[in-house]
Amino acid sequence: MTAWLSVDTDDLLHLPSNRGHPHRSSQKMPHWQTRDYRASQRLLDATDRFIEWAQQGSPVTIFLIAEQLDCPEFTQRMNILLSMPNTTFACHGWGHRCWSAWPEDIKSFSDMLVHSRDRISKFSGKSWRPWFRAPGGYIESWMAGPLAGAGFRLDSSINPSRWVNRKMGGDWSKVKQSIEQSGIIERSWLTTWLGPACGPALSLFPFSFFAKRAWNKKSFPLTDDPVNQEVVTLYWHLLDHSRSSGRWKPPLSKSK
Ligand SMILES: [Zn+2]
Repeated sequence: MTAWLSVDTDDLLHLPSNRGHPHRSSQKMPHWQTRDYRASQRLLDATDRFIEWAQQGSPVTIFLIAEQLDCPEFTQRMNILLSMPNTTFACHGWGHRCWSAWPEDIKSFSDMLVHSRDRISKFSGKSWRPWFRAPGGYIESWMAGPLAGAGFRLDSSINPSRWVNRKMGGDWSKVKQSIEQSGIIERSWLTTWLGPACGPALSLFPFSFFAKRAWNKKSFPLTDDPVNQEVVTLYWHLLDHSRSSGRWKPPLSKSK
């Protein structure tokens, strides 16, 4: 099957242990519309490594956190990526609030989606895609309506494994149903028998062992169009490129 690659642009402060989660975060997040973001040096360096990787031409979608466009050094790097023919841009929220970890709030979620959509689409122009990935994987059924209302056509937040059911009101299949009933295409991430095979699972043992094997198993042809065909959805984080002294690469077979 064809694979669709994407990265999330999370910085260190976007880790739920730092910000965005009602119980797990050390910093308060009274409002979704955070301001004055400045990228960490680690993210800037990792983005430089990612740019080098992207220059070999594989199609890749960048799920951007809208507040990051506050930072000139980070935006400059996004502009380099935007100038490449193989990149597209999509939405990973405004400030990485883990929406379904908080009480249901349709109004604020809708406002956040509209502001993020407008900011990222204005930045990325014809490279914009109305696609969404929920911060921290926190998606729930009530989020489907606002997503459709804000014009999003594809969601890639669901990780169909027993490890994340608790984030999704207890049942990811119900969430998937709500999303699809709202007319949005769901592209769940790759899993293995053990659990998630994308994102943090790429560096978390024992998931990482099986995740790398699943990514590497065959040479997937790649696509930039996950809308009109079934795809294997593979994603990682920009910050992963800071691993192994900057030598980390997504564990695709050698040809990628
Ligand atoms: Zn994220």
